[in-house]
Amino acid sequence: MNMVKPNDLNAFWMPFTANRQFKSAPRMFVAADGMYYTTAEGREVLDGTAGLWCCNAGHKRPRIVEAVQAQVAELDYAPAFQMGHPKAFELANRLIGMAPDHMAHVFYTNSGSESVETALKLALAYHRAKGDGARTRLIGRERGYHGVNFGGISVGGIVNNRKVFGSLLTGVDHLPHTHLPDHNAFTRGQPEHGAHLADEIERIAALHGPETIAAVIVEPVAGSTGVLIPPKGYLERLRELCTKHGILLIFDEVITGFGRLGSAFAADHFDVKPDIMVTAKGLTNGVIPMGAVMVTPEIHDAFMHGPENLIELFHGYTYSGNPIAAAAGLATLETYREEGLFERAAELAPYWEDMLHGLKDCRHVIDIRNIGLIGAIELQPIAGQPTRRAFQAFLDAYDRGVLIRTTGDIIALSPPLIIEKAQIDRIGETLREVLTALD
Ligand code: PMP
Repeated sequence: MNMVKPNDLNAFWMPFTANRQFKSAPRMFVAADGMYYTTAEGREVLDGTAGLWCCNAGHKRPRIVEAVQAQVAELDYAPAFQMGHPKAFELANRLIGMAPDHMAHVFYTNSGSESVETALKLALAYHRAKGDGARTRLIGRERGYHGVNFGGISVGGIVNNRKVFGSLLTGVDHLPHTHLPDHNAFTRGQPEHGAHLADEIERIAALHGPETIAAVIVEPVAGSTGVLIPPKGYLERLRELCTKHGILLIFDEVITGFGRLGSAFAADHFDVKPDIMVTAKGLTNGVIPMGAVMVTPEIHDAFMHGPENLIELFHGYTYSGNPIAAAAGLATLETYREEGLFERAAELAPYWEDMLHGLKDCRHVIDIRNIGLIGAIELQPIAGQPTRRAFQAFLDAYDRGVLIRTTGDIIALSPPLIIEKAQIDRIGETLREVLTALD
């Protein structure tokens, strides 16, 4: 038997964490309410990141708390294989009601990563179901993040997330990322330059034959790799080329979904229609793990042939449509609607933009980017010690009572959509202090 004290920090191998650094100086949250976390020392920390881009309605929202409590007391679990419960259907209807018009069906998962795997598998199976089984290739993008499972890291374009795991999926190409700092630094909203980068699809199609390509997957706004906002015309061009070659277009809306850009989804914001939409995070306000993949009738109906009593798709999770997650999802969507949080995000976006770009003169800042209630401040890397300045900024901001995120040399921000203007000011003031104090 191992002798481990309950408060020992060693057993939990923390994800995406510098475990040794953390365990020498732990940062622990023990409570949360509205815009604030409370630390183990009893300090309040303003949430500048909505947890991990997920708590769009803020924390401890009464409607969601009550819905989860009531659901766990009424029906704690029900299988979704050959069985159902009403809330999973109700939530699917709500989602389709708020999604772009051409979306019609929802497949449930437990996370963004599982939603990505589901979307990629659906794309491959769809082409097969249509007798087009040669379409097996996938196209992702450099600096794309699509979760951490094998399909997701294969189409993803983050070197550190891929390189220690071997050869991954075969038959994957990557579009170039759209970050062009020489042309677009300090752009407010969508940059002018870079739509032509979508034309890389033509080169990949010519190389392998367009009839071998199943799908292109992109984040409409790349979040985890430092907030890369699509240049004007870029997503439209992707759509055009996918349609031209019979390739499915998948939007990974795990971050951009549920109001982050001031619309329900990025597909609405940019007015571009993907064939498959991948969501998670804000679906349940981060309270209970849940993801949802939305598809067009064409994709769904391609599977609905053959005898009625046979399973149409051999895919699913023990917790697909879990009752507690579904209850949390319904209460979350109701909170967004009742409080007009997507409209609120759109209204606050110019104020947010001004706060961010007001930091342009701070030391080490080489770029600032924003869209909706997302922002990024890119710092000059220190030769030989990339990421040091941003990590120092993260620790300092935490000590000063504001939670920010860093990715490489980039500070990323995505506050809950309930944020007040005074709290936006506070984030700006704290960042100014933090940036001024940096080496
Ligand atoms: N896709 C995108 C665009 C994401 O931002 C994330 C999470 N940051 C994921 C997928 C993976 O989601 P999860 O961590 O819930 O698996």
